[in-house]
Amino acid sequence: MLRFSPMMKRISLLLVLVATGALSMTVAAYQQPAAAPAGTRAIDAVKLKDTLYVLTTSTPGDQATFSGGNVAVFITDGGVTLVDTKLATWGPALLDAVKKITNKPVTRIINTHTHGDHTGNDDKFGATVDIVAHENTKANMEKMDAFKGDKAQFLPKKTYKDKLTLGSGKDRIDLYYFGAGHTNGDTFVVFPALRVLHTGDLFAWKDGPFCDRANGGSCVSLPQTLAKAIAGIKDVDTIIPGHSPMQTPKDLQEFQRFTADLAASAEAAMKAGKSVDEATAAFKVDKYPGYKNERVKAAVQAVYDELKK
Ligand SMILES: [Zn+2]
Repeated sequence: MLRFSPMMKRISLLLVLVATGALSMTVAAYQQPAAAPAGTRAIDAVKLKDTLYVLTTSTPGDQATFSGGNVAVFITDGGVTLVDTKLATWGPALLDAVKKITNKPVTRIINTHTHGDHTGNDDKFGATVDIVAHENTKANMEKMDAFKGDKAQFLPKKTYKDKLTLGSGKDRIDLYYFGAGHTNGDTFVVFPALRVLHTGDLFAWKDGPFCDRANGGSCVSLPQTLAKAIAGIKDVDTIIPGHSPMQTPKDLQEFQRFTADLAASAEAAMKAGKSVDEATAAFKVDKYPGYKNERVKAAVQAVYDELKK
């Protein structure tokens, strides 16, 4: 039987389209199947230390390259700890990326918070993996379809309220909860021996914060939560943010000031009777070098919604 390769099929389809003059109309539809489906691209890895890697490919926007939040891969004597597990559609790529770094098994997963781009593959590493999260995050995960029925076995097995230490010595991991922000259950994960902090989406990018009010998030509380973390977490040199390249403690301090400035400015504008658009226009992002203005309006809106209650 004569078989056409996908490329030949596309070329012949293209010729037919050109011949019928339908090309311009159908170009968008034609290109759709050619685009890489989510999860088919390899996930990039950044080596921070001999025992700590970050799986990136984490910048939102492009479906073909957005694999979910930054994942920390921490290699300990007893096995591998992952911080977050990306989007469910990227499961095979995530397993491949971990395997390329180490042949040790994943024995523990820490979820920084509930969102599907951070918890999507909790179920891909076997039923005996120890899954750890803040108690509010477990409650939020229980509401997700991804963790209902049979999948409930992949809900966090271990939870905490304020602080939790796992392991010891060079393998030690400290988990901290300082209050609401991105959600009401965000964990700061510290690798003390390596002087590295994973912030999850409490510090996702240099832009307006996303405060998920449906999961208890608060742009009003976020500046205070970040200030507590800055005061309470010492001896860190490198920060793994939720969705952007590695940062420093100085960057986190600046982001804290940015969120405090944004929340105060939105609150003042609201009290002065200004609209969300006016409040957004009045907040000058260019005071903060390298910051974007793509998510400021949504953050201002979140402050308005929260204060209106
Ligand atoms: Zn998130």
